[in-house]
Amino acid sequence: MYLLHRLRALGMTVQAFEAGTDIGGTWYWNRYPGARFDSESWSYGYSFSQELLQEWDWKEHFSPQPDTLEYLNLVADKFDLRRDIQFSSTVTAAHWDDDTDTWTVTLESGEQARSRFLFTAVGILSAHTLPAIPDRDSFRGPAYHPARWPKTPVDFNGKRVGVIGTGATAIQAIPEIAKQAEHLTVFQRRPNWAAPLHNSKISKEEMAEIKTRYDEIYARCRESPSWFIHRADPRKTSDVPPEEREAFWEKLYAEPGFGIWMGNFRDILVDEKANAAVTEFIAKKIRQRVKDPKVADKLIPKDHGFGTRRVPLESGYFEAYNRDNVLLIDLNETPIDRITPAGVKTSDREHEFDILVYATGFDGVTGAFDRIDIRGPGGVRLKDVWADGPRTYLGWQPEGFPNLLMVLGPHTARGNIPRAAEHGVECLTGLLEFMRARGYARVETRPEEVAAWTETVVKAAAPLLSSKVDSWQTGVNRNVEGRTVRRVLGYNGNGAYYRRKCDEVAAGGFQEFLFR
Ligand SMILES: Cc1cc2nc3c(=O)[nH]c(=O)nc-3n(C[C@H](O)[C@H](O)[C@H](O)COP(=O)(O)OP(=O)(O)OC[C@H]3O[C@@H](n4cnc5c(N)ncnc54)[C@H](O)[C@@H]3O)c2cc1C
Repeated sequence: MYLLHRLRALGMTVQAFEAGTDIGGTWYWNRYPGARFDSESWSYGYSFSQELLQEWDWKEHFSPQPDTLEYLNLVADKFDLRRDIQFSSTVTAAHWDDDTDTWTVTLESGEQARSRFLFTAVGILSAHTLPAIPDRDSFRGPAYHPARWPKTPVDFNGKRVGVIGTGATAIQAIPEIAKQAEHLTVFQRRPNWAAPLHNSKISKEEMAEIKTRYDEIYARCRESPSWFIHRADPRKTSDVPPEEREAFWEKLYAEPGFGIWMGNFRDILVDEKANAAVTEFIAKKIRQRVKDPKVADKLIPKDHGFGTRRVPLESGYFEAYNRDNVLLIDLNETPIDRITPAGVKTSDREHEFDILVYATGFDGVTGAFDRIDIRGPGGVRLKDVWADGPRTYLGWQPEGFPNLLMVLGPHTARGNIPRAAEHGVECLTGLLEFMRARGYARVETRPEEVAAWTETVVKAAAPLLSSKVDSWQTGVNRNVEGRTVRRVLGYNGNGAYYRRKCDEVAAGGFQEFLFR
């Protein structure tokens, strides 16, 4: 939406295509119970308009999905964005014509459009994936994916519910479903670490005070490694005596948001020993919160350390397993054979349900690109070029695809996403402005710059413990064919460095690109 706004301001003719029936992206699709931010709301909103910042009141420190969708609707209305967005329009193909230097975009309906430039803003977590379980569609009751949740709330009252998956969305949804359902069965393949969100309401007075601090908040995000308000503690874990360390972790665990992950000692995500220490602390917390020690043990991950996958933040997730109406099934003990009309057949028995939830996540970062047949000069397919990992310059443009520009493309820095997205939009529209001023009609990457940036990205990922773990961040998804090999999908160095690097490229006249 911000890209559309900026391109219009440049006087360009813009047409946006959106698969959904309305605006909102993530917050349009993910309507499941418990869906909310893990970013502080007041650090998530757009920062480009002072008027908008002053107009909108966040109601909770971690905004629930309905409020965020309301906010995004306000933005769309305020900047009159809808008139250039064509809804219910899934883009299935985009082909480059080298003779005319144009892109032709094809929609699912067969409709086509031609343009000089093609921007992607397809989302890093928009390509949802269903579980690869035999007879998946044979279930006779309703089955929902959190990212394709119905617009009218699902009534779980008096229902037997099965949830497959224990990733970030399941961790948000399970406590809410457990409160309503007659019985809830959770099927877990791999547990995830999770830490408390500690959400709370924002009073009118507090919001008024936050509004006076927006400049400071956004400045802090700009200079933080992951664009959040949180920053690592400069000490190493081993610098601090055990009792003091424990007290520090207790403090972080009791605070809202990602402090326990991003405000922790600076070595917990790179040093095995430091990571093992904080991991043991979090495991202890799970044991304290879950009454049945056997259930607690099943909920404690054994194959990766705390923080090496994006940490889901939860509100009563572990306590949900203390309820009489909740059962945890460990799929390592009793794997799922198949889905049946009545429910789920595991190796030992059939579980019967009225409702199933496939909380099986997304084909992250490159998934939405792969679902479009993108072809550059000579019919070369982007999907093939990226098979072993993306190749881009700064994540702005893929190698070998002229005039294709990406907001939040692979190999950009991420974290608190809107901060990164706003910066990306400003970089890309800056590039267009530069081209227009000089009468250029075509931009592409320089091979040596792509090679250097790809090396930077790979080097930045190397010391991180997260690079040694399967996750959507490393491109592994066992529900998607071929997604078994880890790839580096983002620039995982310091976001503040990335910002400066991009700003320098712009200030230097975009010499790293080829123009015509
Ligand atoms: C449940 C959930 C919670 C999250 N919470 C946070 C958070 O707290 N903080 C944070 O920073 N990030 C969070 N994220 C990440 C979130 O995706 C981003 O914050 C933000 O929404 C990204 O905006 P976007 O416009 O880049 O992508 P999206 O919001 O994903 O929008 C992309 C849009 O592109 C459309 N699209 C994709 N492919 C096509 C196609 N082929 N044709 C037509 N349309 C297409 C999709 O329908 C979608 O509407 C969360 C993600 C999820 C799924």
